Amino acid sequence: GVRNYSFMIRTKNPFGNVPNQLYLAMDELADQFGTGTLRLTTRQTFQLHGILKKNLKTVMSTVIENMGSTLGACGDLNRNVLAPAAPFTTKDYVFAQQTAENIAALLTPQSGFYFDMWVNGEKVILDDPPEVVKAQNDNSHGTNFPDSPEPIYGTQFLPRKFKIAVTVPTDNSVDIFTNDVGVVVISDDNGEPQGFNLYVGGGMGRTHRLESTFPRLSTPLGYVPKDDILYAIKAIVVTQRDNGRRDDRKYSRMKYLVDSWGIDKFTSVVEQSYGKKFEPIRELPEWEFKSYLGWQKQGDGYWFYGLHVDNGRIGGKMKKTLREVIEKYNLNVRLTPNQNLILCNIRSVWKRPITKALAQGGFLEPRYVDTLNITAMACPAFPLCPLAITEAERGIPDILKRVRAVFEKVGLKYTESVVIRVTGCPNGCARPYMAELGLVGDGPNSYQMWLGGTPNQTTLARTFMDKVKVQGLEQIFEPLFYYWKRKRQAKESFGSFTNRVGFEKLKVWVDNWD
Ligand code: SF4
Repeated sequence: GVRNYSFMIRTKNPFGNVPNQLYLAMDELADQFGTGTLRLTTRQTFQLHGILKKNLKTVMSTVIENMGSTLGACGDLNRNVLAPAAPFTTKDYVFAQQTAENIAALLTPQSGFYFDMWVNGEKVILDDPPEVVKAQNDNSHGTNFPDSPEPIYGTQFLPRKFKIAVTVPTDNSVDIFTNDVGVVVISDDNGEPQGFNLYVGGGMGRTHRLESTFPRLSTPLGYVPKDDILYAIKAIVVTQRDNGRRDDRKYSRMKYLVDSWGIDKFTSVVEQSYGKKFEPIRELPEWEFKSYLGWQKQGDGYWFYGLHVDNGRIGGKMKKTLREVIEKYNLNVRLTPNQNLILCNIRSVWKRPITKALAQGGFLEPRYVDTLNITAMACPAFPLCPLAITEAERGIPDILKRVRAVFEKVGLKYTESVVIRVTGCPNGCARPYMAELGLVGDGPNSYQMWLGGTPNQTTLARTFMDKVKVQGLEQIFEPLFYYWKRKRQAKESFGSFTNRVGFEKLKVWVDNWD
């Protein structure tokens, strides 16, 4: 018979920025051509599933005409650039978001074929800022393909997808160390941005039973003054373009290049393209995870409202309520890297009616969302992802309930939490290797268990056990949480506890539990 191919499309929204018009368009497209549900991704974008081939052109051109883009959302090139979604008006936040937008523009493919294909040659996106065009075309260190329509990418593009995140000190809402490049705004004592710390070679993906593939946290590269940032980013991208492995996709992310060369060689090769030396990395305060839920002040007289969205899925009553509020007050929206949504630019006089509308829908924060849910993430896995080995998104609600039940059994309070992330395969799309408890599909109904990430996303987890059957999770959860409750130091997170005690001892406890 004839197969009805259906497609997934993903948008591109630097810092999760979604103008009012684009939100409303996406909301409608999901009903008209998709599955009736909007899905927010862990890279601050929308994903629409179930688009039939015959509707693809209509959907793509609707996105573009409503100030959106899907350009560079897939493939071996720079993916959506992350930055804190909160619409704070302090200089560092605004600068981080502008920088994310400029980096995204710098690394967007230039060829016209995309526009020709989807909107009949009409280019409807605004031109890039002059400083971006200048950096793109700069060939002073021989980094470009001068005759190619893609001066940076050439005809070969990059060996593999490439991920960049920008943030400000202390705000680790973007999982900064899991990106190929992490960019942190450094300001002077008056809060005036001066430059950036750069970190390179982070990445999550790996392959089971292949020790030579591994998740990796990024390594400090150095500091650059603010006017140099696009040139420094370009030099890093070009270094990966020319030296990253293209013979085996398992080893083609930049983390393997940084790892095999070592940071010193990597730095000196990047410096040749950059044309300067990096300055020493600036010292930073402790990182924190931020979720921005509930009402907060933007700093310019307006308010924003952060809404928790389970698994990033907006459907049914939530979709309807959001549409009404966003349409009525003409609100702009931001998507967070934890798949939550922020309503922006709310006037004080609108606070009450919006609160009422959200309360009627049952979406007023702090509502009863289990604290485990707030930090949990799962990738789509079955039935949407062809690489899935086992369940993730469909399985996580039950897993979280069972963790909560074990917490109760061993006497942990309902306010206690652990960062839990589940993926259907080792590719690690929901960043499970940064979780305090990561479950990575390694067989039908079975997971590899990872422990040792920390709540502020600064420590890499390690493999604790293989082939844990989903039915048998309690046998491992119980001893782990029992001993955490009894033997932890004051305020010690589960992740820090498992690291301090050591996996050997944890295994002894698990083996002797009954
Ligand atoms: Fe698919 Fe694996 Fe990514 Fe999950 S982690 S979405 S199963 S590729």
